[in-house]
Amino acid sequence: MTGVLTLVSTPIGNLGDLAPRAMKAFEAADLVCCEDTRRTGSLLKQIGVRVDELRRLDDHTEFESIPIILDRLVAGERVVLVSDAGTPGISDPGERLVAAAIEVGVEITTVPGPVAAIAALVSSGLPSGRFVFEGFLARKGQERLAQLAAIATESRTTVFYESPNRVAATLAALVETCGPERRAVVARELTKLHEELRRGTLAELAEWSSAGVKGEVVVVVDGVDASVELDDGELVERLRTVLAEGSSKRDAVDRVVAATGARRGRVYDLSLTI
Ligand code: SAM
Repeated sequence: MTGVLTLVSTPIGNLGDLAPRAMKAFEAADLVCCEDTRRTGSLLKQIGVRVDELRRLDDHTEFESIPIILDRLVAGERVVLVSDAGTPGISDPGERLVAAAIEVGVEITTVPGPVAAIAALVSSGLPSGRFVFEGFLARKGQERLAQLAAIATESRTTVFYESPNRVAATLAALVETCGPERRAVVARELTKLHEELRRGTLAELAEWSSAGVKGEVVVVVDGVDASVELDDGELVERLRTVLAEGSSKRDAVDRVVAATGARRGRVYDLSLTI
Protein backbone atom coordinates (compact mmCIF):
# COMPACT_ATOMS: atom_id res chain seq x y z
CA MET A 1 0.00 0.00 0.00
CA THR A 2 1.33 3.46 -0.86
CA GLY A 3 1.77 6.03 1.89
CA VAL A 4 0.04 9.36 2.44
CA LEU A 5 1.30 12.88 1.85
CA THR A 6 -0.24 15.32 4.36
CA LEU A 7 0.01 19.07 3.76
CA VAL A 8 0.02 20.77 7.14
CA SER A 9 -0.57 24.51 7.57
CA THR A 10 1.43 26.22 10.30
CA PRO A 11 0.89 29.59 12.06
CA ILE A 12 1.65 32.89 10.29
CA GLY A 13 2.61 34.55 13.56
CA ASN A 14 0.59 33.11 16.41
CA LEU A 15 1.43 29.66 17.75
CA GLY A 16 -2.13 29.31 19.03
CA ASP A 17 -3.28 28.92 15.42
CA LEU A 18 -1.68 25.50 15.01
CA ALA A 19 -4.49 22.95 14.66
CA PRO A 20 -4.58 20.07 17.18
CA ARG A 21 -4.73 17.72 14.19
CA ALA A 22 -1.38 19.14 12.99
CA MET A 23 0.25 17.78 16.18
CA LYS A 24 -1.18 14.33 15.44
CA ALA A 25 0.06 14.47 11.84
CA PHE A 26 3.58 15.36 13.02
CA GLU A 27 3.57 12.58 15.62
CA ALA A 28 2.43 10.00 13.09
CA ALA A 29 4.88 11.07 10.36
CA ASP A 30 7.83 8.96 9.25
CA LEU A 31 9.26 12.02 7.53
CA VAL A 32 8.54 15.77 7.83
CA CYS A 33 9.58 17.87 4.80
CA CYS A 34 10.07 21.58 5.39
CA GLU A 35 11.68 24.67 3.89
CA ASP A 36 14.06 25.23 6.77
CA THR A 37 14.86 22.42 9.20
CA ARG A 38 15.94 24.85 11.94
CA ARG A 39 12.71 26.83 11.73
CA THR A 40 10.43 23.78 11.68
CA GLY A 41 12.63 22.13 14.33
CA SER A 42 12.03 25.13 16.56
CA LEU A 43 8.25 24.99 15.95
CA LEU A 44 8.22 21.28 16.86
CA LYS A 45 10.24 22.00 19.99
CA GLN A 46 7.79 24.72 21.06
CA ILE A 47 4.85 22.33 20.75
CA GLY A 48 6.79 19.48 22.39
CA VAL A 49 6.62 17.06 19.46
CA ARG A 50 9.50 14.81 18.45
CA VAL A 51 9.56 13.66 14.83
CA ASP A 52 11.49 10.77 13.30
CA GLU A 53 13.15 12.78 10.53
CA LEU A 54 13.19 16.29 9.07
CA ARG A 55 14.16 16.85 5.44
CA ARG A 56 14.68 20.15 3.64
CA LEU A 57 12.44 20.76 0.62
CA ASP A 58 12.72 24.19 -0.96
CA ASP A 59 13.27 25.66 -4.42
CA HIS A 60 16.97 24.69 -4.30
CA THR A 61 16.52 21.09 -3.13
CA GLU A 62 13.22 20.08 -4.77
CA PHE A 63 14.87 18.57 -7.84
CA GLU A 64 16.93 16.04 -5.88
CA SER A 65 14.52 15.63 -2.92
CA ILE A 66 11.28 14.85 -4.75
CA PRO A 67 12.36 11.43 -6.17
CA ILE A 68 13.62 10.37 -2.72
CA ILE A 69 10.37 11.44 -1.03
CA LEU A 70 8.32 9.69 -3.71
CA ASP A 71 10.23 6.43 -3.15
CA ARG A 72 9.41 6.60 0.52
CA LEU A 73 5.74 7.39 -0.14
CA VAL A 74 5.50 4.52 -2.60
CA ALA A 75 7.06 2.27 0.06
CA GLY A 76 4.12 3.14 2.33
CA GLU A 77 5.55 5.87 4.57
CA ARG A 78 3.61 8.81 5.98
CA VAL A 79 5.11 12.12 4.88
CA VAL A 80 4.14 15.56 6.18
CA LEU A 81 4.91 18.71 4.19
CA VAL A 82 5.05 22.13 5.89
CA SER A 83 6.43 25.49 4.81
CA ASP A 84 8.01 28.17 7.00
CA ALA A 85 4.60 29.69 7.72
CA GLY A 86 1.04 29.33 6.49
CA THR A 87 -0.03 26.82 3.90
CA PRO A 88 2.45 24.92 1.70
CA GLY A 89 1.93 25.55 -2.01
CA ILE A 90 0.72 29.13 -1.45
CA SER A 91 3.72 31.23 -2.54
CA ASP A 92 5.74 28.45 -0.92
CA PRO A 93 7.06 25.06 -2.11
CA GLY A 94 4.52 22.28 -2.38
CA GLU A 95 2.84 22.14 -5.75
CA ARG A 96 5.60 20.15 -7.51
CA LEU A 97 5.72 17.48 -4.80
CA VAL A 98 1.92 17.21 -4.74
CA ALA A 99 1.71 16.86 -8.53
CA ALA A 100 4.51 14.26 -8.55
CA ALA A 101 2.91 12.30 -5.70
CA ILE A 102 -0.45 12.23 -7.52
CA GLU A 103 1.34 10.89 -10.63
CA VAL A 104 2.59 7.85 -8.70
CA GLY A 105 -0.79 7.22 -7.06
CA VAL A 106 -0.09 8.58 -3.58
CA GLU A 107 -3.03 9.76 -1.48
CA ILE A 108 -2.96 13.47 -0.60
CA THR A 109 -4.61 14.89 2.49
CA THR A 110 -4.42 18.18 4.39
CA VAL A 111 -4.54 19.73 7.81
CA PRO A 112 -5.75 23.14 6.61
CA GLY A 113 -5.08 26.33 8.50
CA PRO A 114 -3.64 29.84 8.19
CA VAL A 115 -3.15 31.53 4.82
CA ALA A 116 -2.11 35.18 5.06
CA ALA A 117 -3.95 36.05 1.83
CA ILE A 118 -7.26 34.66 3.09
CA ALA A 119 -6.91 36.24 6.54
CA ALA A 120 -6.27 39.60 4.84
CA LEU A 121 -9.13 39.21 2.36
CA VAL A 122 -11.80 38.29 4.89
CA SER A 123 -10.84 41.09 7.28
CA SER A 124 -10.39 43.73 4.56
CA GLY A 125 -14.06 44.66 4.28
CA LEU A 126 -13.77 44.42 0.48
CA PRO A 127 -15.91 41.92 -1.45
CA SER A 128 -14.67 38.40 -0.67
CA GLY A 129 -17.18 36.35 -2.69
CA ARG A 130 -14.92 36.29 -5.77
CA PHE A 131 -11.27 37.20 -5.74
CA VAL A 132 -7.97 36.86 -7.59
CA PHE A 133 -4.74 35.86 -5.83
CA GLU A 134 -1.55 37.06 -7.54
CA GLY A 135 1.08 35.65 -5.16
CA PHE A 136 4.03 38.08 -5.26
CA LEU A 137 3.93 40.58 -8.15
CA ALA A 138 6.93 40.48 -10.49
CA ARG A 139 9.55 43.00 -9.34
CA LYS A 140 10.00 44.70 -12.70
CA GLY A 141 9.61 44.42 -16.45
CA GLN A 142 6.73 43.58 -18.75
CA GLU A 143 5.30 40.94 -16.44
CA ARG A 144 4.87 43.50 -13.66
CA LEU A 145 3.27 46.02 -16.04
CA ALA A 146 0.87 43.35 -17.24
CA GLN A 147 -0.05 42.41 -13.66
CA LEU A 148 -0.67 46.05 -12.70
CA ALA A 149 -2.78 46.57 -15.83
CA ALA A 150 -4.76 43.39 -15.08
CA ILE A 151 -5.51 44.64 -11.54
CA ALA A 152 -6.73 47.94 -13.05
CA THR A 153 -9.39 46.19 -15.15
CA GLU A 154 -10.20 43.35 -12.74
CA SER A 155 -13.75 43.39 -11.41
CA ARG A 156 -12.97 40.92 -8.60
CA THR A 157 -11.01 41.80 -5.46
CA THR A 158 -7.26 41.22 -5.97
CA VAL A 159 -5.01 39.94 -3.18
CA PHE A 160 -1.22 39.80 -3.36
CA TYR A 161 1.85 39.45 -1.17
CA GLU A 162 4.42 42.23 -1.10
CA SER A 163 7.71 42.89 0.60
CA PRO A 164 7.57 45.80 3.07
CA ASN A 165 10.40 47.49 1.11
CA ARG A 166 8.40 47.54 -2.11
CA VAL A 167 4.89 48.19 -0.88
CA ALA A 168 5.13 52.00 -1.25
CA ALA A 169 6.36 51.76 -4.86
CA THR A 170 3.68 49.20 -5.70
CA LEU A 171 0.88 51.31 -4.22
CA ALA A 172 2.17 54.35 -6.13
CA ALA A 173 2.16 52.29 -9.34
CA LEU A 174 -1.40 51.15 -8.61
CA VAL A 175 -2.49 54.78 -8.17
CA GLU A 176 -1.27 55.29 -11.75
CA THR A 177 -2.99 52.24 -13.23
CA CYS A 178 -6.19 52.01 -11.15
CA GLY A 179 -6.64 55.68 -10.30
CA PRO A 180 -6.29 57.31 -6.86
CA GLU A 181 -9.81 56.57 -5.62
CA ARG A 182 -9.80 52.75 -5.78
CA ARG A 183 -10.30 51.26 -2.30
CA ALA A 184 -7.58 49.02 -0.90
CA VAL A 185 -6.30 47.54 2.35
CA VAL A 186 -2.80 46.85 3.59
CA ALA A 187 -2.90 43.98 6.10
CA ARG A 188 0.26 44.01 8.18
CA GLU A 189 1.60 41.56 10.76
CA LEU A 190 -1.59 39.49 10.83
CA THR A 191 -2.15 37.48 14.02
CA LYS A 192 0.91 39.14 15.62
CA LEU A 193 1.31 41.78 18.32
CA HIS A 194 1.40 44.70 15.86
CA GLU A 195 -1.39 43.51 13.59
CA GLU A 196 -2.76 46.40 11.54
CA LEU A 197 -5.44 46.62 8.87
CA ARG A 198 -4.99 49.92 7.12
CA ARG A 199 -7.96 50.77 4.90
CA GLY A 200 -8.26 53.67 2.48
CA THR A 201 -8.02 54.74 -1.12
CA LEU A 202 -4.92 53.78 -3.08
CA ALA A 203 -3.80 57.42 -2.91
CA GLU A 204 -4.18 57.49 0.89
CA LEU A 205 -2.33 54.19 1.32
CA ALA A 206 0.44 55.24 -1.07
CA GLU A 207 0.92 58.40 0.97
CA TRP A 208 0.88 56.49 4.29
CA SER A 209 3.34 53.84 3.05
CA SER A 210 5.81 56.39 1.68
CA ALA A 211 7.05 56.91 5.26
CA GLY A 212 8.13 53.23 5.35
CA VAL A 213 6.30 50.03 6.24
CA LYS A 214 7.58 47.36 8.58
CA GLY A 215 6.68 43.70 8.94
CA GLU A 216 4.89 41.24 6.70
CA VAL A 217 2.31 42.64 4.34
CA VAL A 218 -0.65 41.55 2.21
CA VAL A 219 -2.30 44.04 -0.16
CA VAL A 220 -5.99 43.76 -1.03
CA VAL A 221 -7.37 45.90 -3.88
CA ASP A 222 -11.04 46.42 -4.67
CA GLY A 223 -12.26 45.37 -8.11
CA VAL A 224 -13.27 47.97 -10.63
CA ASP A 225 -16.94 48.89 -10.21
CA ALA A 226 -18.62 47.42 -13.27
CA SER A 227 -21.90 49.17 -12.46
CA VAL A 228 -20.46 52.65 -12.95
CA GLU A 229 -21.17 54.15 -16.33
CA LEU A 230 -17.77 55.18 -17.70
CA ASP A 231 -17.39 57.97 -20.23
CA ASP A 232 -15.73 57.39 -23.61
CA GLY A 233 -12.40 58.88 -22.47
CA GLU A 234 -12.16 56.45 -19.55
CA LEU A 235 -13.00 53.47 -21.74
CA VAL A 236 -10.36 54.52 -24.29
CA GLU A 237 -7.84 54.88 -21.46
CA ARG A 238 -8.62 51.35 -20.26
CA LEU A 239 -8.29 50.01 -23.81
CA ARG A 240 -4.89 51.70 -24.12
CA THR A 241 -3.72 50.19 -20.81
CA VAL A 242 -4.68 46.67 -21.87
CA LEU A 243 -3.22 47.13 -25.38
CA ALA A 244 0.04 48.39 -23.84
CA GLU A 245 0.51 45.02 -22.18
CA GLY A 246 0.44 43.31 -25.54
CA SER A 247 -3.21 42.21 -25.90
CA SER A 248 -4.76 42.14 -29.36
CA LYS A 249 -7.56 44.66 -30.00
CA ARG A 250 -10.09 41.87 -29.82
CA ASP A 251 -8.79 40.68 -26.40
CA ALA A 252 -8.58 44.27 -25.18
CA VAL A 253 -12.25 44.81 -26.08
CA ASP A 254 -13.18 41.56 -24.28
CA ARG A 255 -11.29 42.52 -21.15
CA VAL A 256 -12.63 46.07 -20.98
CA VAL A 257 -16.17 44.82 -21.50
CA ALA A 258 -15.69 42.23 -18.73
CA ALA A 259 -14.18 44.76 -16.35
CA THR A 260 -16.61 47.63 -16.93
CA GLY A 261 -19.85 46.06 -18.03
CA ALA A 262 -19.94 48.54 -20.92
CA ARG A 263 -21.72 47.49 -24.14
CA ARG A 264 -19.44 45.50 -26.49
CA GLY A 265 -20.49 47.50 -29.57
CA ARG A 266 -19.56 50.76 -27.85
CA VAL A 267 -16.15 49.48 -26.66
CA TYR A 268 -15.48 47.98 -30.11
CA ASP A 269 -16.27 51.30 -31.83
CA LEU A 270 -13.95 53.12 -29.41
CA SER A 271 -11.17 50.58 -30.08
CA LEU A 272 -11.29 51.59 -33.74
CA THR A 273 -10.41 55.18 -32.78
CA ILE A 274 -7.08 54.15 -31.15
N1 SAM B 1 2.43 30.13 2.57
C1 SAM B 1 2.18 31.40 3.19
C2 SAM B 1 0.68 31.57 3.39
O1 SAM B 1 -0.03 30.56 3.37
O2 SAM B 1 0.21 32.68 3.61
C3 SAM B 1 2.78 32.55 2.41
C4 SAM B 1 4.27 32.46 2.28
S1 SAM B 1 4.98 33.80 1.42
C5 SAM B 1 6.62 33.21 1.20
C6 SAM B 1 5.24 34.99 2.69
C7 SAM B 1 4.40 36.25 2.49
O3 SAM B 1 3.10 36.05 3.04
C8 SAM B 1 4.95 37.46 3.22
O4 SAM B 1 5.94 38.12 2.46
C9 SAM B 1 3.71 38.32 3.37
O5 SAM B 1 3.41 38.97 2.17
C10 SAM B 1 2.65 37.24 3.63
N2 SAM B 1 2.50 36.99 5.08
C11 SAM B 1 2.92 35.91 5.78
N3 SAM B 1 2.60 36.05 7.07
C12 SAM B 1 1.98 37.23 7.20
C13 SAM B 1 1.42 37.94 8.30
N4 SAM B 1 1.43 37.45 9.53
N5 SAM B 1 0.84 39.15 8.06
C14 SAM B 1 0.80 39.66 6.81
N6 SAM B 1 1.33 39.04 5.74
C15 SAM B 1 1.91 37.84 5.93
